Amino acid sequence: MTKSVPHDGIRPDDRPIAVIGGGFSGTLLAIHLARRGSRVVIVERDPQALGHGLAYGTCGPQHLLNVRAGNMSAFADDPGHFLRWLGVDEADAANRFATRATYGTYLSSLLATARATMPDRIAVAIAVARDIAPAPGGTLDVQLDDGTILNARAVVLAQGNLPPQRHRALDGLAGSDVVPDPWAPGALDAVSPDARVLLVGTGLTAVDVIQTLQARGHKGPIMALSRRGLMPRAHAASGPSVTPQPMPTARGSDLLRAIRARATQVGWRHAIDELRPHTQALWQAHDGAAQARFLRHARPWWDVHRHRMAPALATRIESLRARGDLTVVAGDLRRVERAADGTLDVDWRRRGTNGSVRTAVDAVVVCTGPGGDPSRSRDPLLQTLLGKGLARPCPMNLGLDVDAHWTLRDAGGQAALPIHAMGALSKGLNWEMVAVPDIRLQAQRLAEHLCRTQGAVPA
Ligand SMILES: Cc1cc2nc3c(=O)[nH]c(=O)nc-3n(C[C@H](O)[C@H](O)[C@H](O)COP(=O)(O)OP(=O)(O)OC[C@H]3O[C@@H](n4cnc5c(N)ncnc54)[C@H](O)[C@@H]3O)c2cc1C
Repeated sequence: MTKSVPHDGIRPDDRPIAVIGGGFSGTLLAIHLARRGSRVVIVERDPQALGHGLAYGTCGPQHLLNVRAGNMSAFADDPGHFLRWLGVDEADAANRFATRATYGTYLSSLLATARATMPDRIAVAIAVARDIAPAPGGTLDVQLDDGTILNARAVVLAQGNLPPQRHRALDGLAGSDVVPDPWAPGALDAVSPDARVLLVGTGLTAVDVIQTLQARGHKGPIMALSRRGLMPRAHAASGPSVTPQPMPTARGSDLLRAIRARATQVGWRHAIDELRPHTQALWQAHDGAAQARFLRHARPWWDVHRHRMAPALATRIESLRARGDLTVVAGDLRRVERAADGTLDVDWRRRGTNGSVRTAVDAVVVCTGPGGDPSRSRDPLLQTLLGKGLARPCPMNLGLDVDAHWTLRDAGGQAALPIHAMGALSKGLNWEMVAVPDIRLQAQRLAEHLCRTQGAVPA
């Protein structure tokens, strides 16, 4: 027999929609659903993360958003919302980069307001969701780790990025000086200020870790290593004013050539920003083989041009490099072993050479960014869903396989149950589904779909 979650404001006979994860995705989806008359239970394992999630939680004042304030409204149909909340409306402020902590406060205040004004529609369960099983009447039972079973008429997985995949060069290594996931709470606490640090990866995650170390007074040398040694490019000092362009007709390598040619006319930032409204459709216009080629060959270049740093941050990184405090190298990490004196011996090969380089460090931090293969995640819910065949990884290993409404496809390829995925877990369908401008639209569209198909009262 199932028992209802004993949440204030949720009548036992009213089956809510269960949203697993209370970060940006889960929070926005819950608000959209509640506004449309649906009852929602947000299941969040970490009370500190509720209402802002991983990216906008405990970060210092040095951590800036990597998207201009003018494009960070939580609502796609109200682009000025964040600016009004900040209390600014002039173009200069829209051009600036707010701190991530400020953005976290914004999101938390949205959730608090929604819960206060719609107390019968949004409830919260602080628990880990472990399993989902079909239940009578086409409903779903969500099993929480406190033993509660939440009966829901649909479930949405809004669980954010998968943790980084372990680098095989670190196999067999243990200890607090080897950090496999820099996002884990307290992950960098054991890195002493004088430590010689190797960052495995040179993207936005590495930039973030560098900032965190600097804010803690780090003095030791930092070496960042990736295959191509590419770091994210900087945003321009002032914002783009991009005139909407039609979707390019070229595909595959012809498309890349067309983007390069366009960049020579209007500048690379402009050429990339023009593509922004079309990137999801362009991804879907390519077959699996072409998508795989893009991921293999063009992705590192795309990532550094598309996901940029705030100009102030880029200046800080440049001065660290100029002082020699930060070295960025292109090469392959082969092996890290513990030396007799307890330090870490890094064996790597510089790109374009055959020889091996050995570098002694005191700590290694894996900054390769979010993982993509859900079957390698240790999340109990994903493990169970994959194990029972209710979900399967997407063919590109960019999260879960979903249909056009982000409904999970089971092991046989059927989208049979009302279980959906959003945010990074649904990246395989849309490619660009990681940043606020994409997820806010997904939250709105998914809420509309759920209310249409799951019988919620229209707003
Ligand atoms: C450091 C960093 C900086 C970023 N900066 C920007 C930026 O400036 N601009 C931008 O547009 N985007 C940025 N992003 C992208 C960011 O990922 C999205 O903007 C957005 O925050 C994603 O939110 P989410 O809710 O999907 O995931 P998350 O914020 O990760 O939230 C997922 C939540 O699900 C919970 N959860 C997971 N599994 C379970 C379970 N089984 N049971 C219960 N709860 C569970 C987790 O505890 C977590 O709170 C950044 C990302 C990172 C990592």
